[in-house]
Amino acid sequence: MSGIRSRTPRPNHYILVVFDSCRYDSLIRARPHIIRKLGRVERRWSYASWTAPSHFNLLMGLMPHSSPKHVFASEYYKKDLLRFNERLGCEKVSFEALVPRLYLPPFLKDCLGYETHALVSLPVLNPKTPLNAGFDSYRLMEKHNDMRAMLREMHFPEERPSFWLLNVGETHYPYALPDEPEDQWPRLHGLHGVFKHFDDARPGGKLARRGQSFFNRAKMSELRDRQIAAVKHLDKVVEELFDLVPNDTYITITSDHGELFGEEGYFGHGPIQHEKVFEVPFVEGKLR
Ligand SMILES: [Zn+2]
Repeated sequence: MSGIRSRTPRPNHYILVVFDSCRYDSLIRARPHIIRKLGRVERRWSYASWTAPSHFNLLMGLMPHSSPKHVFASEYYKKDLLRFNERLGCEKVSFEALVPRLYLPPFLKDCLGYETHALVSLPVLNPKTPLNAGFDSYRLMEKHNDMRAMLREMHFPEERPSFWLLNVGETHYPYALPDEPEDQWPRLHGLHGVFKHFDDARPGGKLARRGQSFFNRAKMSELRDRQIAAVKHLDKVVEELFDLVPNDTYITITSDHGELFGEEGYFGHGPIQHEKVFEVPFVEGKLR
């Protein structure tokens, strides 16, 4: 050994923020000032219509797609994974490098020396699920709707790069802000009994057309406005996130799937085949 080591720059810290259930048009209508500092908000498509498979896909390293034409899926996957080299500020990410596990957290941890952390809001992603593979820490937050509480958990050691997955729940039904008393949350007949556990086990479906017991246009409009208000709130929390992170931090903000607010008789997400359940916002960049 010569004693002189070429100093390789540390890869970027990387934060993947998932606004659970946030529709693309809800984010656009909220007109966020801070989130837009990352770059242009793209309209993309989730690979899945509900939380668990969508997060699995994100953690495989495949972000919501652009629905490209005239290209083989395998070529698109490979090209999309290469984008991680810009996110991480290195040249070590490829489809081949991820084989055979095809899962980002253990790759970041074992091959690139990252600390890997997840803070999740939805119990369907809880730490006992297989999604936890390769994470140094993986925590279900006490409240399903408090991104600000996540910021208090975040830390960035100087000597190692960090990866943080933040699954944010303010944009999930009932689109409640953390300081809103639970007895003031909206109630949809037949939903809150299940949703009180936020287990996402019955995330959506076709609403009854006859009886109109909960297909109520005014109610749907109110719920949609609440999701937009949640994004406005999160824009302020994202500003606090931007203030918190060190230099050389790359941030992606997206959502795991969309949400239906009464279109064609649907509410929510999950067992729904509709454009709006796949349409998601996508924005990313490095601040400084
Ligand atoms: Zn979700």
